[in-house]
This record gives sequence, C-alpha cells and structure tokens, in this order.
Amino acid sequence: MRIAIIGGGVAGLAAAYELEKACAAGASVEYVLYEERPRLGGSLASEVVRGAVLERGPDSFLTEKPAAAELCRELGLGADLIPSNDAARKTYIVVRNRLVALPDGLMFLVPTKLVPTALTRLFSFSTKIRMGLELMHPPRPSDHDESVAALVLRHFGQEAVDRLADPLLSGIYGGDAAQLSAQTVLPRLVEMEAKYGSLTRGMLAAHRKMRAAAKNATAPKRAAPPIFTAMRGGMQQLVDALTARLDPGSVRSATRVSNLRRTSSGWTLEADGVTATYDALIMAAPAWVAGALLAPVDSALGSDLAGIPYSSSITVNLLYDEARIGTLPDGFGFLVPAIEGRAMLACTFAHRKFLGRTPPGKAAFRAFLGGMKRDELMAENDETIIATVRREMSEILGAKTIDLAVEPEFAQVSRWNRAMAQYSVGHRERMQRISARIAALPGLRLAGNAYEGIGVPDCIRLGRRAARELVTEGAALAASKP
Ligand SMILES: Cc1cc2nc3c(=O)[nH]c(=O)nc-3n(C[C@H](O)[C@H](O)[C@H](O)COP(=O)(O)OP(=O)(O)OC[C@H]3O[C@@H](n4cnc5c(N)ncnc54)[C@H](O)[C@@H]3O)c2cc1C
Repeated sequence: MRIAIIGGGVAGLAAAYELEKACAAGASVEYVLYEERPRLGGSLASEVVRGAVLERGPDSFLTEKPAAAELCRELGLGADLIPSNDAARKTYIVVRNRLVALPDGLMFLVPTKLVPTALTRLFSFSTKIRMGLELMHPPRPSDHDESVAALVLRHFGQEAVDRLADPLLSGIYGGDAAQLSAQTVLPRLVEMEAKYGSLTRGMLAAHRKMRAAAKNATAPKRAAPPIFTAMRGGMQQLVDALTARLDPGSVRSATRVSNLRRTSSGWTLEADGVTATYDALIMAAPAWVAGALLAPVDSALGSDLAGIPYSSSITVNLLYDEARIGTLPDGFGFLVPAIEGRAMLACTFAHRKFLGRTPPGKAAFRAFLGGMKRDELMAENDETIIATVRREMSEILGAKTIDLAVEPEFAQVSRWNRAMAQYSVGHRERMQRISARIAALPGLRLAGNAYEGIGVPDCIRLGRRAARELVTEGAALAASKP
C-alpha cells in the first residue's frame, strides 16, 4: 500500500513514524511525507541560545493528555521529559496596568472558593455578588451551542468574560472567547450546566467527588502529576527524534502539494510539478489547506474544512542578564485582557516555568501576541515588535524591573501564520459533517490541530491513529484479494 502524508508538522511526523513502525513489523507499506517548508516540525521549533532553551512555538504539553509523553518515551526521550515547576505556579491578570493573581480555587473559569473570590482585586464588588448568587439563582441552561463568552456572561457577567475568559483563552491559544464554542472547548462546563444549573454548584460537586475518591483510594498516595510536561532540550528534540526514525528517501521537504485528484484506484497528487499516485492519503496540513486541496474532490467537504477559522500569532523570546533586571513577581507570568488595549496577550517567565533550561543568572521571557483580535501585528517588523514587547513589559512590571535602557542579551521574533485552529460555535456539527464525507472517501484520513484537540498530544494521537487505521485497512484489503 502506498500512502502520501501531506504536512510535516507534528501530526504528519507522528503518522510517518507509525508507518515506519508498521514497515518494520512487516506490513507492506510505502509512504512519502510532503512538507512545504525546508524544515520539518511545523509549529514545533526551539533552539538553544547562550545555554537557554528558547521555544518559538509550543513550550510544553498538557500532562493529562498522555499521547505526547508516550511517544517521547517510545523514542527514548523519557529521561528528557521535565515537569512544570508547579510549586511556583501563579498566574497574574493585568488589570489597569497592575498584576492581580488569579484567585485560588478557580476551576475551568469557575470560582469555587469563597474567601479568595471575595478578597480578589480581579473582580468588582458587583461581580462578586453575582458570582455568589449564581449558586442559588443560576440562569436557564442553553439548548444550543454558544460561545464561551456567552456562557460565562450568562452565569457571571461581563467582567468575568473580560478579565477571565478572554485572557485565559486568548493568552493560551490566541482564541476569541466570543467565537469559541463552549460545547467543544469547555464541554465539562456545558455538562455541569445541564445537570446542576449552577456552574459553581457543578464544580463544587466535582471537587467533592475527587476528594472522596482520593480518601477512599487504597493505593498509596502519589504526588500529583505536573500540569505541563516539556522537553529538557526543547520541542525540537521531539522533531529531531521523529525525523531520525524516518527513511530519508520517504521525506520530501520544501515540496508543496498543489493539486489533488481522486482516481478509481486511489489518489493522484501534484507536488512541485511532479505527479504521483497513492492508494491512501493522510491530510496533515492545516484545514484551510486541506479544504482548498479537497474542494475539487468533494466541494461540501472542502468548504467545511476551509470554514474552520485559524488565528495567527507571534512569539517573542527575550533573554536578560538577571542582575540587570529588577525582582520579578512570583509565578509563571501574566495574561493581558483585550480590554487593556495592549499588543501583548501573555508573557511567560520561562526560566521559572521549567527549571534547568536557562543558565543560572539569566531570565528568559516568552511573550505572545496576535491572536484573533490583533491579526494586523503580523505585518509589523521585528524591531517594532520587540520594542513594543519591551515597552509593555516595562509598563506592566514596572520600569525598575524592566528598564528600557537595559538591552536584552538576545531577542527573537517568530510568526505563526494561521497556525492555530479555532473551534468556533458549531464545531461539533461541522465535525460530524466532515466525518460523514470522509467516510465516503476510502483511503482518506485527516490529522492535525483543527479537529479533535488543538494541543500537541491530540495532533500526535490523530496522526498515529490515521496511520494505524490505513495499515489495518490495507492489510484487510490485501487479505480479501484472491
Ligand atoms: C505559538 C504557538 C504556541 C503553542 N503552544 C502550545 C503549547 O504550549 N502546548 C500545546 O500542546 N500546543 C501548543 N500549540 C499548538 C500546537 O503546537 C499545534 O496545534 C500543533 O503543533 C499543530 O501541529 P500540526 O501538525 O497539526 O500542524 P502544523 O504544525 O501547522 O503543521 C502543518 C504542516 O503542513 C505544512 N503544509 C501546509 N500546506 C502544505 C502543502 N500544500 N504541502 C505540503 N505541506 C504543507 C506546513 O508547512 C506545516 O509544516 C501552540 C501553537 C503555536 C503556533
């Protein structure tokens, strides 16, 4: 069976790795991986500069989603998996230029602890009253998908949207709370609303259940896993380890697939003027590319894929000599709500979030800009972007902490054009339509961040699953032939 993989980001690489494993196990499979850019890895890219690991794209993955760590262990990188420094975890929200810590007890945007919520400076008195009343007088549950902003607004009011939902969603994934689907992005909250009416009541019930389960557990107590897991040497380690497992003859970097046709026996594609035919296809390019390539094959499928919105983002790494900056507040960094009117969406104190990746005496900052609301920043030049980040950091952290007269030792800008899919309202129905159309096109699989999860683990899971399914199908087909 001949399989083409379009897209050499982590989803496409994971698919190719799985096919290599199948070949090694004796499956009759050949594959070619097409990647438009000269380098593989897509959004995963990091480098070591002056001894500091600097991530240009993702810096880690959620530990509770095991697919990424499992793959790393399989590749022999288990010893290089490092936990986030959760003992120092504290995140701030910028409120009128001042840093306010997220109150303790916040679960999925829902406050569950009375005292920290009552004392926080994040919310005004009227919002706090509203949050308290939500427990007794929740709004009527929604009977349709709605945006995260609409859900939070109904329960806790506009300030909770502006100071909580918006910065958390835009600072983490460049998303817009007013567009993202509550059903897809926060399914647990939607289920809780249906069951309890009040989100606070639902969260308190979940909390109680977790505590009871921990109390009744017979196994010895284990330390809680870290929230995030990173690679000691940066995400590039994973890209390099995956690439090293592939047959170089099966990889076509700097080769863009420009046309796709379905034939009676499979798929014909055109890449850099060369036509090639395959039995099956793993589409691991972004959904907007998949939509354009698949439109001539199935126009409804093409338009549903092309209709998945994407946001663009910019990351800026700044490396400072710690002796030349002031004392930073405790914690991992801060998020900036859109109502603050700034270019920055978030800033991570990278040397604090993951220990041992920055040399002693150095401070590494990772700022995040762009997102759905500030797309125009993508057109700015590097100097302007770096100057903007330094000025805003100085205004937010104080001129004594970030003195504009002190130059960073190193500054680096990375642009990610339409790299992050947005699960907008109606995503679940769109996915149902897409799955039905794909099922009618034998030998086609989709993988990547636009479908079942935006993070690295889900992309890996989908890539590997696509490859396994095609190998199984190919084997069944071969067995059925006389
Ligand atoms: C700045 C940033 C920070 C992030 N932070 C995190 C994080 O901390 N944790 C986390 O879990 N996730 C994070 N994410 C999300 C995660 O990194 C991505 O969702 C994931 O890497 C996407 O992988 P992918 O393979 O689906 O797509 P991509 O990485 O976008 O790869 C798709 C590839 O397809 C190629 N391609 C496109 N068109 C063609 C064509 N016609 N022919 C051939 N090749 C083509 C592209 O060049 C690209 O290399 C972040 C993303 C970004 C951008």
